[in-house]
This record gives sequence, C-alpha cells and structure tokens, in this order.
Amino acid sequence: MAEIVVKILECWYISHDVKCFRVEKPKGFKFIPGQATDVSINLPEWKDKLRPFSFTALNEWPFLEFIIKIYDDHNGVTHQLGKTNAGAELILHDTFGSIQYKGPGIFIAGGAGITPFIAIFRELNKQKKLLPGNALIFSNKTAHDIILAEELAKMLGPAFINVFTRQGVIGFRERRIDREYLVETIRDFSQHFYVCGPEIFVKDIVELLLNLGATAETVIIEK
Ligand SMILES: Cc1cc2nc3c(=O)[nH]c(=O)nc-3n(C[C@H](O)[C@H](O)[C@H](O)COP(=O)(O)OP(=O)(O)OC[C@H]3O[C@@H](n4cnc5c(N)ncnc54)[C@H](O)[C@@H]3O)c2cc1C
Repeated sequence: MAEIVVKILECWYISHDVKCFRVEKPKGFKFIPGQATDVSINLPEWKDKLRPFSFTALNEWPFLEFIIKIYDDHNGVTHQLGKTNAGAELILHDTFGSIQYKGPGIFIAGGAGITPFIAIFRELNKQKKLLPGNALIFSNKTAHDIILAEELAKMLGPAFINVFTRQGVIGFRERRIDREYLVETIRDFSQHFYVCGPEIFVKDIVELLLNLGATAETVIIEK
C-alpha cells in the first residue's frame, strides 16, 4: 500500500463544520476528478487510522486539496483534523474511486457528498462548454450547511438546485428528495445520474431512480 507523507500548507474553516486543507502535492501526482484517497494524520496515535477523502483540486493546481466535514461528537479522525493546522503532516495512501464523469446528467449530493463532484465541476468548468447540460441537486439540513455555495452557484447558475431538509428559506425548496420530488424535478430518467452522500441517502435515491427508469449503467455511485 502506498504511503506518501505530505505537509499541510494551509487550512481554514469554510463553514461552521467543514474545513479545507491544502497540502503538498508529490511530484507528478495525478488523480481522476471524483477519486479519493485514504488519509491518516502523521502522528504516532493517528497514523494507522485511515479515512477516505476526495480530491477537490484541479490536477494542474500546485497543491492537493481536501474539503472535510469535521465531526466533533466523538474523538475520530475528523475531530482530530479539526485541531490540525498548517505545518502538520498527513499520510496519503492508495487512490481509488468509481465516481468519474461519464457525460451530462444530474448530480445529486447530500452534505459532504458534494466533494467528488467539486473536482468534476471544477474540471468541466475549466473546459467551458462542458458544464452546461449538467445540473446539481444539493441536499443539506439548512442553508448554513451548503459547502462552497458561491462557487457552485457561479459555475452552475440556475442548474444549481438546493434542497433543505430542516429550514424554511424563502425562495428555496424545503423538503426531502423523495419520489414525488424527483418526478417533479427531472424530465429525463435516461440520462446519467451521479449520487453521493451518506450511505442511506445514496441507497434510497438510487432505488428511486432505478424505479423511475434509470439503469445500473447510468447511475454512478461510489462502490
Ligand atoms: C470514497 C469516500 C470519499 C469521501 N470523501 C469525503 C470528503 O471529501 N470529505 C468529507 O468530509 N468526507 C468524505 N467522506 C466521508 C469521510 O470518510 C468520513 O466522514 C470520515 O471517515 C469520518 O471519520 P471520523 O473518524 O471522524 O468518524 P468515524 O469514527 O469514522 O465516524 C463516522 C460517522 O459515525 C458517527 N460516529 C461514529 N462513532 C461515534 C460516536 N462514538 N459518537 C457519535 N457519533 C459517532 C459520526 O458522527 C459520523 O457520522 C468520504 C467517504 C468515502 C467512502
């Protein structure tokens, strides 16, 4: 198994519980947008605790980037990452992932499940003409929880659709992504669907999409 030690160059909170880490990029390091790597913190008591995180930078950037939701409800790796700052080291392990761009479609993300899509959108946005034809349905508890709201709105325009499960926000839908919502929102179930988020979110949405006419080949998830 690969083990690459990288220094954190800078890190900061981009929302109340999500932290962005920019880390050294090993020479020649490449990934496919949508892929992830197992990461651990290079400290004796943490180096063997590996957790997967998606690459969010563009390959051409001179650093790697991770956008990480910090869980402070128990002493896990992300809680420790919340206390970890520039100058500390992370260990990157193997790169993997089955989420890759296969063509225009609907991206459906729950919370931190947006991260593999950030890399894909940034790449498509760079190649200007490729982003139109794609849409994002992004489910969060409240507006407060949207990761990179401004950047996503700029890249996707009206194709950036927010769904809030908890908070009434004027101008936004307040509901869950259920069958009724998908039928109302999506006209064509033969296009690609990219789904990422908590396990139960992915399971429920994939089941609904398959029932509505999508196929196992056109629904792309992390396996
Ligand atoms: C391929 C892949 C890519 C991913 N990419 C990203 C990414 O880019 N960014 C990102 O933020 N996340 C990403 N994730 C999710 C991320 O890996 C997890 O959030 C992370 O592993 C959590 O690690 P942890 O040690 O802090 O929590 P864990 O201990 O692994 O616990 C995870 C969950 O269980 C709950 N939990 C566990 N134990 C307790 C306890 N004792 N008390 C209370 N709650 C508990 C936590 O609240 C949390 O919801 C990705 C996951 C996969 C599979």
